[in-house]
Amino acid sequence: MALREWGIWTENDGGFIEAQIYSTEQGEARLVEYFEEDPDNVGDLSLVEICPDHEQQPKDACEECAAEETDDDDEEEED
Ligand SMILES: [Zn+2]
Repeated sequence: MALREWGIWTENDGGFIEAQIYSTEQGEARLVEYFEEDPDNVGDLSLVEICPDHEQQPKDACEECAAEETDDDDEEEED
């Protein structure tokens, strides 16, 4: 089973500002630390699971995986 990894995602920049977080508990703790450092600037931060294949992309919305899927020959195409 692959190791799952999370990162701190910033909506403003559309990217991760931190990665190598290996549990949601660890990630929540990091969010609290960011909040304590800069309470006015954490509104766009969230804990997001990272794509196992593309470390710059969120797992649930990986643009590179989406692009690969559409580029692949679709052998199972039914229609
Ligand atoms: Zn991906």
